[in-house]
Amino acid sequence: MTSRIRIPAAALALALFAFPLPPGRAAAADVPLRVAATLSDLGCVALAVGGADVEVTVLCPGSMDPHYLPAKPSLSRKLGQADALLFNGLELEIGWLPPLLEKARNPRVRAGAPGLIDCSAALDSVLDVPSGAIDRGLGDIHPQGNPHYTVDPRRMIAVVELVGRRFGELDPPRAAAYRDRAEAYAAQLRERMPVWRERTAALRARHVLLNHQHWNYLCDWLGLDVIGEIEHRPGIAASPRHVQDMVEKSRALGDVVVVAASWDHLDVVREVAGRAGASLAVLPGHSGAEPGTDDYLAFLDVVTLRLAEAAAAPGKE
Ligand SMILES: [Zn+2]
Repeated sequence: MTSRIRIPAAALALALFAFPLPPGRAAAADVPLRVAATLSDLGCVALAVGGADVEVTVLCPGSMDPHYLPAKPSLSRKLGQADALLFNGLELEIGWLPPLLEKARNPRVRAGAPGLIDCSAALDSVLDVPSGAIDRGLGDIHPQGNPHYTVDPRRMIAVVELVGRRFGELDPPRAAAYRDRAEAYAAQLRERMPVWRERTAALRARHVLLNHQHWNYLCDWLGLDVIGEIEHRPGIAASPRHVQDMVEKSRALGDVVVVAASWDHLDVVREVAGRAGASLAVLPGHSGAEPGTDDYLAFLDVVTLRLAEAAAAPGKE
């Protein structure tokens, strides 16, 4: 049971590890800032804001489900070299980032260090905050609310501005350059947003059934009617009973588009769409998930184009 209560996101920080306060980054104006980003979308922001002043490493490729990234030693080594770490927060990476940070033992990105940047601190509201008992032991993977805000360009503009400020604090000689690039990238996003909204106009006359809450922020921004999720709870596979409920609800409403990420269990998704007589949109989950989506703007271009195609397609009986 969830509701869309709005709560201050700044209060929701990923629990990491307690270490003594770290030393700051050594001043070296001609050396790029080494940035690690947990998600490809955040890597895009780091590159856009940092330009030639940063080297960016992404830990979770855009094609992989960020809930379940294997904590490989190679990722610890990358974290060990980072001057800054951008992470999503809201417990999205809690299964793999804390153990990687522990192994990396890098004072520049440990808890309390200026290089550790929780991008969810930029949000002024979080969707799908559980209203009932929260028990991660039951398998609910969104105990702090929906962590998938990077698919919402409104919230990413706030992240871009946050990253611009934080890079400037880490690397004061280039603070103006970070700020200027952040403003320019935010302006590019603002310019594209009306295009993406207009492109998906036909979808506002239909209903959307999600596989996972991954797309709720996008649907919230686009003004789409989300009728539910195929998953029983976030991260928990649907029971036959829940699947049947969703199929019946979709058939009763008609005009339903099922939306899933390419890393989802698409056999179940296709079965539900088929039984519901719904059209199906399988989307790249994050930037870089498929060719032509390496930049965040290109990613949202592909996402909105594919939604428009699905909106134009008739449901299959
Ligand atoms: Zn999720």
